[in-house]
Amino acid sequence: MILIVDDKTENIFSLTNLLESKGFLVDSTSSGEEALRKVLRQKYALIILDVQMPIMNGFEVAEALGSFSLTRDIPIIFLSAINIDKKYITKGYNSGAVDYLTKPVDPDILLLKVKVFYRLYEQNLQLVEAERKLKREIEIRKLAQIELKDRVQYLHTILESLPQITFKAASNGVITFVNNHWYKYSKSAQDFPEHHPSFTPIWSRFRECIEGKSALEYEVKIKNLESGLFRYHLLRIIPIVDNNLLKKWVGTFTDIEDQKQIEHKKDEFLTIASHELKTPLTSIKGYIQLLDRISNEFENKNVSNLVTRAQNQVLKLESLISDLLDVSKINNGRLLMNMDYFNLEDLIKNVIYTIEQIHHDSSIKIERSGDLFDIQVYGDVIRVEQVFINFLTNAFKYSPGTDIIYVRTKYEGNTVSIEVEDFGIGIPKEKQNHVFNKFYRVKETSVSFQGLGIGLYICSEIIKQHNGTYGIKNKSGKGTIVYFTLPIN
Ligand code: ADP
Repeated sequence: MILIVDDKTENIFSLTNLLESKGFLVDSTSSGEEALRKVLRQKYALIILDVQMPIMNGFEVAEALGSFSLTRDIPIIFLSAINIDKKYITKGYNSGAVDYLTKPVDPDILLLKVKVFYRLYEQNLQLVEAERKLKREIEIRKLAQIELKDRVQYLHTILESLPQITFKAASNGVITFVNNHWYKYSKSAQDFPEHHPSFTPIWSRFRECIEGKSALEYEVKIKNLESGLFRYHLLRIIPIVDNNLLKKWVGTFTDIEDQKQIEHKKDEFLTIASHELKTPLTSIKGYIQLLDRISNEFENKNVSNLVTRAQNQVLKLESLISDLLDVSKINNGRLLMNMDYFNLEDLIKNVIYTIEQIHHDSSIKIERSGDLFDIQVYGDVIRVEQVFINFLTNAFKYSPGTDIIYVRTKYEGNTVSIEVEDFGIGIPKEKQNHVFNKFYRVKETSVSFQGLGIGLYICSEIIKQHNGTYGIKNKSGKGTIVYFTLPIN
């Protein structure tokens, strides 16, 4: 809006008409004092100010406007009829005018000037708005920086308070932060602790992860600087990704030396116990066989019934002990395979027949479908049999009250796949990855079903030694599908 200040109403009238005809919003007053009051209440883009006015002349009004910060920047065009003397023009400029016109005013010139000042005013407004936005942006950034700093500080405090050795590294692997525990194992914040010579250097394992942008889990022995002894640690390094961009790495070394020692002692105990149990069991088996023969001679049905039951229990015990022995062999790296060619179809038929005989009184039947494997496969026939028997035994054990187990066989490229599907209690999805681990049993069902949780672990080791694969397949509805594959050439 433009403010016209002139004591002559006819001047105000003609100027207002002129400006309004060009689309400007116009306000007016006939006194300098009223003009000062108006500028404090309303924002004006330009003031057209008459110099000759009673009480307060135009120069005084302009000086007063110049003293308020709110009004200092409003452009003023002076209009004067008489003071055309150079010294008045100078005075006008000194008191804040940005232009000076003498009456009679040429309307075209006045309009040109008004347009220029108006545009300047608008540009000024835009600049002020841009500056305001910029300032706000700077403030937001400053706040974000402070928040980021706080977060980094918070992360460092957490890392510092952990009992583990912790560190952070830039995306290229350069270590940027280590906590205090680090210095028990390394003298420098830039170098990883010294590893035992029998392990792959930590750096090269980390480098592989950086290339693959993947997390690292590595059990490695590192040297304690004070004792000079190497202790087992689990090193975990995870990538921190933001907007699909690898930002940094966060790593921990967790001391697992005590755990490893206990595990080692348990393995030793297993080896000794299973060996020691085997000898008396062999004798018991012999005595029961003798008893069986004697009871047959006397044709006492009750006794021979009891002997058969005892024999079954001894067989179960024998199978448990041989599983335990297998585990200790795996622990000691001595689960050796007797490799030779064998007919896979014969193996499948024999195992299904045997399992059907064992479970002849069960309501569950086995249904085989798929490809016939009438081929020679290279492997340990007894161990492969053990895997298939284990899968089928589990399928019977964990499916009480059901009536069918499917065995599906299929050629898949250079491999053969054998899968066993049951409709029993199933394995919760989040536990399926664990059932092939040593001594793992699904907690919810471990009370109702007997077992040691080592059958599938042994199977996994056997399949690995045959370069095969194994796992649990996704399944809709109740039950489990477990499978293994073997290479055929
Ligand atoms: P276990 O002697 O306990 O059966 P395994 O190693 O054979 O040991 O199996 C490990 C665990 O996997 C079992 O304890 C059981 O919880 C689960 N499991 C294996 N097979 C099945 C199946 N067919 N149905 C449901 N759960 C199964």
